[in-house]
Amino acid sequence: MMNFHLLIPVARVIETFEFIVSVYCIKKIPKVTVPLKNIENYCQACLMPLASCICQVMPLTVTDTRVTVVVHYSDSARLSNSGKWVPLVLENSEVMVRGLINATLDAKQCIQPGYHNLVLFPDKDSIPLTEDYCRNLDKPVNLIVPDGNWNQAGKMNRRETSLAHLPRVHIPLGKPTRYRLRKAAHENWISTFEAVARALGFLESKELQRQLEVFFDTAVDRILYLKGRKLSE
Ligand SMILES: [Zn+2]
Repeated sequence: MMNFHLLIPVARVIETFEFIVSVYCIKKIPKVTVPLKNIENYCQACLMPLASCICQVMPLTVTDTRVTVVVHYSDSARLSNSGKWVPLVLENSEVMVRGLINATLDAKQCIQPGYHNLVLFPDKDSIPLTEDYCRNLDKPVNLIVPDGNWNQAGKMNRRETSLAHLPRVHIPLGKPTRYRLRKAAHENWISTFEAVARALGFLESKELQRQLEVFFDTAVDRILYLKGRKLSE
């Protein structure tokens, strides 16, 4: 039986994740890794224990490219969700939450005027994001990134009719993932944050990609350390 009293301080302290409480009260959702006790010992932004906070690992970087991560609510508060790290390092970015019962996201809000709005998702019609493709763009890109587990991201890609007309792009096959917080069902799958870093390698610079990958390794290592598992080499 869930103790709702314990949820009240969570809502007060972690403002970003207030929605979790209301959803919890309506229906049971998959496990959330934000602890309900000693919440004051956790960073409100990255949800890590304060001693492992990743908010200062990389300075906030200004980019021409906008990144709009659209995450399924049930994944958004998990420590292993990498999409929520994007606004910690990229100023021109945002995380939107979909799937809430009492606050439905209008996907049209993801579309930004003055940008090429592209959905980063591999499907049968998606275009590889390459230097050649980026060279022909005459406006900055707003990269809309479905996030969550594979099924959740796929449903968003298929079901959001207001995004149906936008071009889909995908990351060309590259080095294997360094994300070891969840088991990938396919050897070529990479995490949301890695996909964003590689996309910005084409859209911004390889140096920014490198910085983002250093940040990513640090974040993953700290979570693995907390879980008592082997760190990156
Ligand atoms: Zn933090």
